[in-house]
Amino acid sequence: MSNQLPDWSNYRGVMVFVEQRESVAKPVSWQLLGAGKKLADKLEVPLMALVIGEHVENLADEAIGYGADQVYLCEGPELKDYRTRPYSRITLKLIENVKPEICLFGASATGRDLAGAIATHLPTGLTADTTELDVESHPSRLLLASRPAFSEKMMATILCKQYRPQMATARAGVFQALPRDASRTGKIIRIENPMKGEKIATQVMGFIEKQSGINLEEADIIVAGGRGLGGPEPFQMLQELADVLGGEVGASRACVDSGWIKHAHQVGQTGFTVRPKLYFAIGISGAVQHTVGMSNSDYIVAINKDPEAPIFQIAHYQIVGDLFQIVPALIDAFKQRKD
Ligand code: FAD
Repeated sequence: MSNQLPDWSNYRGVMVFVEQRESVAKPVSWQLLGAGKKLADKLEVPLMALVIGEHVENLADEAIGYGADQVYLCEGPELKDYRTRPYSRITLKLIENVKPEICLFGASATGRDLAGAIATHLPTGLTADTTELDVESHPSRLLLASRPAFSEKMMATILCKQYRPQMATARAGVFQALPRDASRTGKIIRIENPMKGEKIATQVMGFIEKQSGINLEEADIIVAGGRGLGGPEPFQMLQELADVLGGEVGASRACVDSGWIKHAHQVGQTGFTVRPKLYFAIGISGAVQHTVGMSNSDYIVAINKDPEAPIFQIAHYQIVGDLFQIVPALIDAFKQRKD
């Protein structure tokens, strides 16, 4: 293959797919607009958002508040729920017409499905589960999409030199949304659904909500426990601390694999990526497969009896000692402050 890059000068702009359900956007959409804004500013191009659904005009306004300069809006009753065929047809047609150089999607079930379908059809490259995004400015304008590789042992930066658009997915919690500015102005461009009236083979019969009742991805405070708890019972103590702080309980994979707590609580590479304001890592050693899912927390408090535990390298507050003494003392202290 020649070293010379094709001329992609007709592809300009950064586009973010806004994922929604029941007209409510997934937070990852606004987080990707935050990441996309930095790329767009560096490339000196507009940041675009794509909103598809039924009764979702409110999301177009919200997208502008979160940094979009232009929003492409496609509405219709047949677009209420995500389905691969109509959503990918709309996105493909838009890419064909608008020619964004970069397209970003959430690494959710929907985002992965849509981005995969589009990358296959175009065809172009897709970097899944990115944790860092940057761009080389003029002349290459290449997207530098980085993600952990080889069981998290190294970071790989993946380039898509020969095809456009350059596409990436990112999990919720990895990037930060800009503060919403309701006074921002932008352009909303309505687009036609190319599949209107066409029979779509798949039908959504309904949704069965997860019964876990936990929402780690959106929690501001997470109290997470690891193998140091020694069994399932001490999770009650962690739940008490979480309750007193108004947080959720998280866990390392070691606890999930041991059957002490459900997978819905797992943080890390094969669990959830979280970005709370406050993360307690209690009896967790700090393996990279765990920290990749929580290292972007605003504040990390680690409690561990081993002063050499790797978790202390990323913790803002380090408490060396026995969790069975420290956690009850914290619960008492926070309860007293509440009373
Ligand atoms: P340990 O590493 O055993 O650490 C226990 C800690 O508790 C120790 O630091 C110890 O000093 C401390 N401790 C013990 N007793 C006390 C006490 N009384 N008071 C205070 N501290 C105490 N892991 C995840 O968490 N999430 C993932 O998503 C994930 N995905 C993975 C994917 C792959 C492909 C692989 C290979 C591994 C994955 N893992 C994941 C597993 C990961 O490598 C670690 O094995 C796991 O995170 C360790 O869990 P832990 O920290 O709870 O246990």
